[in-house]
Amino acid sequence: MLKRVPGTKDILPDEVSRWQKIEETARSVFSCYNYREIRPPLIEQAALFNRSLGESTEVIQKQMFIIKKDEDELALRPEATASIVRAYIENNLDKTEGLVKYYYLGPMFRYERPQKGRLRQFHHLGCEVIGADEPASDVEVIELADHILKTLKITGYTIKLNSLGCQNDKAAFTQGLRTLLKNRESQLCADCQVRLNQNVLRILDCKNDACRAVIATIPTDHSYLCADCTAHFASVRRGLDLLSVSYTVSPHLVRGLDYYTRTVFEISHSGLGAQDALGAGGRYDTLVKDLGGPEVGAIGFAFGMERLLLVYDQTQDAQPNSLVYIISMNDAAQEWGMRLQMQLRKSGIPCDSNYQNKSLKGAMRHAAKLGARFVLLLGEDEVKKQVITVKDMNVGKQQELTEDMLAATLKTS
Ligand code: AMP
Repeated sequence: MLKRVPGTKDILPDEVSRWQKIEETARSVFSCYNYREIRPPLIEQAALFNRSLGESTEVIQKQMFIIKKDEDELALRPEATASIVRAYIENNLDKTEGLVKYYYLGPMFRYERPQKGRLRQFHHLGCEVIGADEPASDVEVIELADHILKTLKITGYTIKLNSLGCQNDKAAFTQGLRTLLKNRESQLCADCQVRLNQNVLRILDCKNDACRAVIATIPTDHSYLCADCTAHFASVRRGLDLLSVSYTVSPHLVRGLDYYTRTVFEISHSGLGAQDALGAGGRYDTLVKDLGGPEVGAIGFAFGMERLLLVYDQTQDAQPNSLVYIISMNDAAQEWGMRLQMQLRKSGIPCDSNYQNKSLKGAMRHAAKLGARFVLLLGEDEVKKQVITVKDMNVGKQQELTEDMLAATLKTS
């Protein structure tokens, strides 16, 4: 038998209600902040990601799903920021809208080694604010991420915050770090020895014990930030304090993609194990220009849906089932049942029935399995008397109702 691709998941109907709950909550929070949904395509020119994420990043080097067709080299998107920036530029949104606030939901693809919390097809729930330099945008976006988690009643997370500075600061910091670590190269793991030449900032979030010991000795004073970036970072912190958003300044926090500048943040959760990031984001002030657009600042974040689901306790939001299940015991009843079912559905009452001609006992078992709230019994007697036997499955009581009383009774129960 053909099996699903490793690192992908079938999201079965039993699980979908939890997805929908998170999606609905996020949509309503995003709307309150005046963010609008954007849906870019799942495939893009591979060059879009090569140029924006950074040639030496792990995502580009190892994790892209590439599709080659004739002359084209396409990629399944590993993240949405680059696509949204492309869409912003391509659709002239900088000219027609200026500052935009968008949110998105959807699958991302990275060819990673599958493990708990790390999939090859996973889902992001995120947002982007493009055309915004002010620290107030950083504050809004971080507070928004916090608000989504609070609305979902998720606790036990930490917001880690850092500033990488502008491109000049970042370059100086990278150079300084490289010089510092060159002397200790032999103490680093094999991966970090490669990173030393290619992507030195990533050494700061290596999980290897030996590397961690080296990293612990690196100064954490943000002295690499220029005056503007120092002021920007101070404003972001002041804004978060003002709005009572709890965070920890983590001077070693970096992100896996090259385009980040200034504010970066990550939200980790103690209940997630090794892959403890629920979500992450930051500023990308040079990306819009790098991709051919105007010189405007931008910031965004993305939560991993699968990881939100791991820490989201659904029981607190269990919805009562309002399903009505119709059991028709003979042919005449069957016709009546079909008509009734259509009317109930039209009046917004979820309804299902025993199409399979099961015995009464079998049909009742099926109704119970579906968690039906009401069972409507239509047998010989009911057809003759033109009444419907309605069984309330919550209390086990039954009553006879005429057809015109039915919908109102079911709705008010
Ligand atoms: P990133 O774009 O790597 O910053 O990812 C943002 C969030 O997406 C992370 O914090 C994770 O929650 C989630 N995420 C990233 N990669 C994966 C993956 N391979 N499988 C599942 N979730 C992921």
